[in-house]
Amino acid sequence: MERNIQTRAIVLSVRKYGELHKALTILCPDLGLLDVIIFGGRKGKKTALAPLFSINDLQIYHNPVKKEYSVTEGVSTFIPQAINEDLGCTYTAAFFCEILTKSPTDEPNQTFVLLENALTELEKRPQLRRRITISFIWNLMQISGTAPDLEACPVCDRRYSDDEVLHFSNPMIVPCCRSCADSEYLVLPPGARRYLRYTAGMDIASSVEVQLSEAAESRIYNYMLRWAGLFSQTQLRTLNELLNF
Ligand SMILES: [Zn+2]
Repeated sequence: MERNIQTRAIVLSVRKYGELHKALTILCPDLGLLDVIIFGGRKGKKTALAPLFSINDLQIYHNPVKKEYSVTEGVSTFIPQAINEDLGCTYTAAFFCEILTKSPTDEPNQTFVLLENALTELEKRPQLRRRITISFIWNLMQISGTAPDLEACPVCDRRYSDDEVLHFSNPMIVPCCRSCADSEYLVLPPGARRYLRYTAGMDIASSVEVQLSEAAESRIYNYMLRWAGLFSQTQLRTLNELLNF
Protein backbone atom coordinates (compact mmCIF):
# COMPACT_ATOMS: atom_id res chain seq x y z
CA MET A 1 0.00 0.00 0.00
CA GLU A 2 1.11 3.59 -0.70
CA ARG A 3 2.56 5.55 2.19
CA ASN A 4 0.42 8.59 1.45
CA ILE A 5 -3.21 7.89 0.82
CA GLN A 6 -5.87 10.33 -0.31
CA THR A 7 -9.39 9.11 0.37
CA ARG A 8 -12.96 10.04 1.19
CA ALA A 9 -13.95 8.83 4.64
CA ILE A 10 -16.95 8.78 6.97
CA VAL A 11 -16.15 8.84 10.69
CA LEU A 12 -17.91 5.92 12.42
CA SER A 13 -16.43 6.32 15.90
CA VAL A 14 -14.02 8.53 17.83
CA ARG A 15 -11.99 7.51 20.88
CA LYS A 16 -9.28 8.99 23.10
CA TYR A 17 -5.76 7.85 22.26
CA GLY A 18 -3.45 8.79 25.10
CA GLU A 19 -3.76 12.26 26.58
CA LEU A 20 -3.26 14.21 23.39
CA HIS A 21 -4.42 12.09 20.48
CA LYS A 22 -7.60 10.68 18.97
CA ALA A 23 -8.27 7.34 17.32
CA LEU A 24 -11.03 7.02 14.72
CA THR A 25 -12.69 4.19 12.88
CA ILE A 26 -13.48 5.36 9.36
CA LEU A 27 -15.24 3.89 6.34
CA CYS A 28 -13.61 4.56 2.95
CA PRO A 29 -15.02 3.70 -0.49
CA ASP A 30 -12.02 1.62 -1.59
CA LEU A 31 -10.25 0.67 1.63
CA GLY A 32 -13.35 -0.20 3.66
CA LEU A 33 -12.95 0.04 7.44
CA LEU A 34 -9.76 1.57 8.76
CA ASP A 35 -8.49 2.58 12.22
CA VAL A 36 -6.58 5.85 12.05
CA ILE A 37 -4.93 8.18 14.55
CA ILE A 38 -5.05 11.95 14.66
CA PHE A 39 -1.86 12.93 16.49
CA GLY A 40 -2.53 16.01 18.60
CA GLY A 41 -6.24 15.59 17.83
CA ARG A 42 -7.36 16.50 21.35
CA LYS A 43 -5.70 19.92 21.52
CA GLY A 44 -5.38 22.97 19.32
CA LYS A 45 -6.58 23.33 15.75
CA LYS A 46 -6.68 19.62 15.06
CA THR A 47 -9.62 19.09 17.46
CA ALA A 48 -12.00 20.18 14.68
CA LEU A 49 -10.62 17.64 12.21
CA ALA A 50 -12.97 14.81 11.17
CA PRO A 51 -15.71 14.90 13.85
CA LEU A 52 -18.09 11.98 14.51
CA PHE A 53 -20.49 11.19 11.58
CA SER A 54 -18.69 13.67 9.29
CA ILE A 55 -17.79 12.97 5.65
CA ASN A 56 -14.27 14.06 4.68
CA ASP A 57 -11.50 14.18 2.14
CA LEU A 58 -8.53 12.90 4.11
CA GLN A 59 -4.78 12.61 3.63
CA ILE A 60 -3.54 9.57 5.50
CA TYR A 61 0.02 8.53 6.18
CA HIS A 62 0.68 4.81 6.39
CA ASN A 63 3.62 3.70 8.52
CA PRO A 64 4.20 0.08 7.44
CA VAL A 65 6.75 -0.57 10.20
CA LYS A 66 4.40 0.43 13.02
CA LYS A 67 1.39 -0.79 10.99
CA GLU A 68 -0.22 2.51 11.77
CA TYR A 69 -2.36 4.96 9.81
CA SER A 70 -2.47 8.62 10.76
CA VAL A 71 -4.46 11.55 9.38
CA THR A 72 -2.20 14.36 8.25
CA GLU A 73 -4.80 16.67 6.72
CA GLY A 74 -8.50 16.76 6.08
CA VAL A 75 -11.46 18.77 4.82
CA SER A 76 -15.00 17.94 5.93
CA THR A 77 -17.61 18.04 3.15
CA PHE A 78 -20.43 17.16 5.57
CA ILE A 79 -20.65 17.94 9.29
CA PRO A 80 -23.83 16.89 11.11
CA GLN A 81 -25.80 19.54 13.00
CA ALA A 82 -29.48 18.53 13.07
CA ILE A 83 -28.37 14.96 13.82
CA ASN A 84 -26.43 16.08 16.90
CA GLU A 85 -29.31 18.25 18.13
CA ASP A 86 -31.85 15.40 18.15
CA LEU A 87 -31.28 12.46 20.48
CA GLY A 88 -33.27 10.04 18.28
CA CYS A 89 -31.16 10.98 15.24
CA THR A 90 -27.91 10.72 17.22
CA TYR A 91 -28.85 7.18 18.32
CA THR A 92 -29.87 6.38 14.73
CA ALA A 93 -26.58 7.57 13.22
CA ALA A 94 -24.65 5.69 15.93
CA PHE A 95 -26.64 2.56 15.10
CA PHE A 96 -25.80 2.85 11.36
CA CYS A 97 -22.11 3.21 12.24
CA GLU A 98 -22.06 0.38 14.78
CA ILE A 99 -23.70 -2.17 12.46
CA LEU A 100 -21.25 -1.29 9.65
CA THR A 101 -18.29 -1.58 12.04
CA LYS A 102 -19.34 -4.93 13.49
CA SER A 103 -20.78 -6.52 10.32
CA PRO A 104 -18.71 -5.12 7.45
CA THR A 105 -19.84 -5.99 3.90
CA ASP A 106 -17.66 -7.11 0.99
CA GLU A 107 -18.78 -4.02 -0.94
CA PRO A 108 -17.19 -1.00 0.80
CA ASN A 109 -17.98 1.31 -2.11
CA GLN A 110 -21.74 0.60 -2.06
CA THR A 111 -21.74 0.64 1.73
CA PHE A 112 -20.03 4.03 1.74
CA VAL A 113 -22.68 5.47 -0.61
CA LEU A 114 -25.46 3.96 1.51
CA LEU A 115 -24.13 5.53 4.72
CA GLU A 116 -23.45 8.84 2.98
CA ASN A 117 -27.08 8.91 1.75
CA ALA A 118 -28.44 7.83 5.14
CA LEU A 119 -26.58 10.56 7.04
CA THR A 120 -27.39 13.34 4.58
CA GLU A 121 -31.10 12.38 4.53
CA LEU A 122 -31.14 12.19 8.33
CA GLU A 123 -29.61 15.66 8.50
CA LYS A 124 -32.15 17.06 5.97
CA ARG A 125 -35.22 15.29 7.34
CA PRO A 126 -34.71 14.27 10.97
CA GLN A 127 -38.48 13.73 11.35
CA LEU A 128 -38.24 10.83 8.86
CA ARG A 129 -35.56 8.97 10.86
CA ARG A 130 -37.68 5.81 11.18
CA ARG A 131 -38.23 5.51 7.42
CA ILE A 132 -34.56 6.28 6.79
CA THR A 133 -33.65 3.48 9.20
CA ILE A 134 -36.00 1.00 7.49
CA SER A 135 -34.47 1.84 4.11
CA PHE A 136 -30.90 1.74 5.44
CA ILE A 137 -31.34 -1.77 6.87
CA TRP A 138 -33.20 -3.02 3.79
CA ASN A 139 -30.50 -1.63 1.46
CA LEU A 140 -27.73 -3.08 3.64
CA MET A 141 -29.31 -6.53 3.32
CA GLN A 142 -29.46 -6.12 -0.48
CA ILE A 143 -25.78 -5.08 -0.60
CA SER A 144 -24.73 -8.06 1.51
CA GLY A 145 -26.71 -10.35 -0.80
CA THR A 146 -28.85 -11.77 2.01
CA ALA A 147 -32.15 -9.99 1.28
CA PRO A 148 -34.95 -12.45 0.40
CA ASP A 149 -37.35 -11.55 -2.47
CA LEU A 150 -40.40 -11.91 -0.15
CA GLU A 151 -42.31 -13.58 -3.00
CA ALA A 152 -41.67 -17.20 -2.06
CA CYS A 153 -40.59 -19.00 1.09
CA PRO A 154 -36.76 -19.38 0.95
CA VAL A 155 -36.99 -22.68 2.88
CA CYS A 156 -39.66 -24.64 0.93
CA ASP A 157 -39.87 -22.44 -2.23
CA ARG A 158 -43.66 -22.18 -2.06
CA ARG A 159 -45.02 -18.87 -3.40
CA TYR A 160 -46.79 -16.77 -0.78
CA SER A 161 -50.43 -15.80 -1.22
CA ASP A 162 -51.18 -12.05 -1.26
CA ASP A 163 -52.62 -11.95 2.24
CA GLU A 164 -50.13 -14.33 3.84
CA VAL A 165 -48.47 -13.41 7.13
CA LEU A 166 -44.76 -14.33 7.17
CA HIS A 167 -42.99 -15.90 10.13
CA PHE A 168 -39.27 -16.31 10.69
CA SER A 169 -36.49 -18.84 10.23
CA ASN A 170 -33.74 -18.29 12.81
CA PRO A 171 -31.10 -20.50 11.17
CA MET A 172 -31.48 -18.68 7.83
CA ILE A 173 -32.21 -15.25 9.41
CA VAL A 174 -35.03 -14.59 6.90
CA PRO A 175 -38.81 -14.39 6.89
CA CYS A 176 -40.42 -17.64 5.75
CA CYS A 177 -43.82 -19.38 5.65
CA ARG A 178 -45.56 -20.49 8.83
CA SER A 179 -44.78 -24.21 8.42
CA CYS A 180 -41.04 -23.59 7.94
CA ALA A 181 -40.80 -21.14 10.85
CA ASP A 182 -39.08 -21.95 14.13
CA SER A 183 -39.72 -18.65 15.85
CA GLU A 184 -42.64 -16.37 16.72
CA TYR A 185 -40.23 -13.50 17.43
CA LEU A 186 -40.79 -11.74 14.09
CA VAL A 187 -44.11 -11.64 12.26
CA LEU A 188 -44.46 -9.71 9.00
CA PRO A 189 -48.01 -8.74 8.00
CA PRO A 190 -48.99 -8.53 4.27
CA GLY A 191 -48.99 -4.70 4.16
CA ALA A 192 -45.46 -4.51 5.56
CA ARG A 193 -44.30 -7.14 3.08
CA ARG A 194 -45.81 -5.12 0.20
CA TYR A 195 -43.96 -2.02 1.39
CA LEU A 196 -40.62 -3.86 1.57
CA ARG A 197 -41.11 -5.45 -1.85
CA TYR A 198 -42.06 -2.11 -3.36
CA THR A 199 -39.05 -0.29 -1.91
CA ALA A 200 -36.48 -3.05 -2.61
CA GLY A 201 -33.76 -1.55 -4.80
CA MET A 202 -34.86 2.06 -4.13
CA ASP A 203 -32.30 4.44 -2.68
CA ILE A 204 -33.08 6.07 0.67
CA ALA A 205 -34.21 9.42 -0.78
CA SER A 206 -36.83 7.70 -2.98
CA SER A 207 -38.06 5.15 -0.48
CA VAL A 208 -38.75 7.71 2.27
CA GLU A 209 -41.17 9.40 -0.17
CA VAL A 210 -43.38 6.29 -0.22
CA GLN A 211 -46.33 7.03 2.05
CA LEU A 212 -46.82 4.93 5.17
CA SER A 213 -49.29 5.35 8.01
CA GLU A 214 -47.72 6.09 11.38
CA ALA A 215 -48.83 2.71 12.74
CA ALA A 216 -47.41 0.81 9.74
CA GLU A 217 -44.17 2.80 9.88
CA SER A 218 -43.70 2.02 13.55
CA ARG A 219 -44.46 -1.70 13.01
CA ILE A 220 -42.02 -2.06 10.08
CA TYR A 221 -39.39 0.00 11.92
CA ASN A 222 -39.49 -2.29 14.97
CA TYR A 223 -39.47 -5.34 12.73
CA MET A 224 -36.42 -4.16 10.75
CA LEU A 225 -34.47 -3.22 13.88
CA ARG A 226 -35.01 -6.69 15.37
CA TRP A 227 -34.18 -8.34 12.05
CA ALA A 228 -31.00 -6.24 11.83
CA GLY A 229 -30.05 -7.38 15.33
CA LEU A 230 -30.22 -11.02 14.21
CA PHE A 231 -28.65 -10.26 10.82
CA SER A 232 -25.59 -8.59 12.35
CA GLN A 233 -24.93 -11.76 14.42
CA THR A 234 -23.42 -9.71 17.19
CA GLN A 235 -24.52 -7.63 20.17
CA LEU A 236 -25.32 -4.08 19.05
CA ARG A 237 -25.22 -1.61 21.92
CA THR A 238 -27.10 1.06 19.96
CA LEU A 239 -29.93 -1.32 19.01
CA ASN A 240 -31.28 -1.43 22.58
CA GLU A 241 -31.02 2.36 22.83
CA LEU A 242 -33.13 2.69 19.68
CA LEU A 243 -35.68 0.02 20.62
CA ASN A 244 -36.20 1.67 24.01
CA PHE A 245 -36.22 5.24 22.72
ZN1 LIG B 1 -41.87 -22.64 3.70
